[in-house]
Amino acid sequence: MNTFDLIVVGAGIVGAACADLAAAEGLRVAIVEPGPVGGGATAASMGHLVVMDDDPAELALSRHSQQMWEAYAQLPEAEFSRCGTLWVARDEREYAGIAAKIARLAQAGVVAEAVDAKALYELEPELARGLAGGMLVAAEAVVYPPRVAEFLVKRATTRNTQLHLGRRVHALSGDGVVLDGGTRLSGPVLVATGCALPELLPMLPLRARKGHLVITDRYPAFVRHQLLELGYADSAHGNAPTSVAFNVQPRPTGQVLIGSSREFDSSSEVSMTIVRRMLERAFAFLPRLCDLQALRIWTGLRPTTPDGRPYLGAVPGLRDVWVAAGHEGLGITTALASAHLVIDQLLGRRSAIDPAPYLPSRVRA
Ligand SMILES: Cc1cc2nc3c(=O)[nH]c(=O)nc-3n(C[C@H](O)[C@H](O)[C@H](O)COP(=O)(O)OP(=O)(O)OC[C@H]3O[C@@H](n4cnc5c(N)ncnc54)[C@H](O)[C@@H]3O)c2cc1C
Repeated sequence: MNTFDLIVVGAGIVGAACADLAAAEGLRVAIVEPGPVGGGATAASMGHLVVMDDDPAELALSRHSQQMWEAYAQLPEAEFSRCGTLWVARDEREYAGIAAKIARLAQAGVVAEAVDAKALYELEPELARGLAGGMLVAAEAVVYPPRVAEFLVKRATTRNTQLHLGRRVHALSGDGVVLDGGTRLSGPVLVATGCALPELLPMLPLRARKGHLVITDRYPAFVRHQLLELGYADSAHGNAPTSVAFNVQPRPTGQVLIGSSREFDSSSEVSMTIVRRMLERAFAFLPRLCDLQALRIWTGLRPTTPDGRPYLGAVPGLRDVWVAAGHEGLGITTALASAHLVIDQLLGRRSAIDPAPYLPSRVRA
């Protein structure tokens, strides 16, 4: 039987979430993944579930999705750790901007509080002296994304889903897909191939944005919160060819995960020049970080659309072809709500949030 109600192409966190939801809705689903499940950007990421408030659409999607992640808080596979996010203000100007940020987040139902310099050092004694304060979002968490993707795919396969692992979609066929080797699957198609999107849907502009991460040996409680500089959003949303920002996470293992960098580059090579810049940025905020033993450095590619918002919906000009891709550096956070937006459209239902800002048809507008 090679006919399905939905063929999900790609099993990163986004495809996995879509397949899981479609299967739960009773659809006959096929998943095609050259493998391993969650082995693309999903495996490379930090797994920080964070609400970003810079763009109203991003705020709506990240908040809605973050609420859905609560259903996974007790799931062992998620390795869910509620460390909270502590945004750090370098100076009085950054500190003064926190009130507006708290108000925007509050409108979306997110509880955030300003912390003065004294409280900042009580929360994180290792931070460099001279910082102005920060903003604490205590309920935020981190997860281990590739294991969640595996869990979602496994759960889908218990509900009428066929997994074509080790196979790649070679082309769209008009009424389904052709796999490498020539096998044909027929049915509506949902392309969730992350950075590989242009191979199947070249009409949707997308660029890979490389990020480097460094992980240390175990130093339990060296830091306790996901730490980000308030200038992080400028790095994430700006169009600078290369940027770095202070972004450090305590893993549940006691290891310290250090980010983040951004470059428009689709190679996976480690650049020691970028790593040095990224670490110097982190050492400026956490001076004793330089005494910790680094164990591994890796890179990952963020799928980046020109406006920074993902493509979620029907592909203009193609019958029965849907897309869920282009989540840049926020796709772990937003995967669950993305799946709901796409599957709601597929089933002709209203969504809990407005799907308009993410429709692929905006590319022609
Ligand atoms: C360094 C770094 C740090 C990050 N940190 C965070 C973070 O802390 N929080 C957060 O929310 N987000 C973070 N992100 C972003 C997040 O990782 C991505 O947005 C998200 O993983 C995208 O998921 P995806 O499923 O679209 O893509 P991917 O995980 O790349 O999955 C796409 C899948 O499609 C498959 N595929 C490709 N071509 C084909 C084909 N022709 N046929 C079949 N399958 C195909 C691939 O094998 C792959 O498994 C980070 C990203 C990076 C790089």
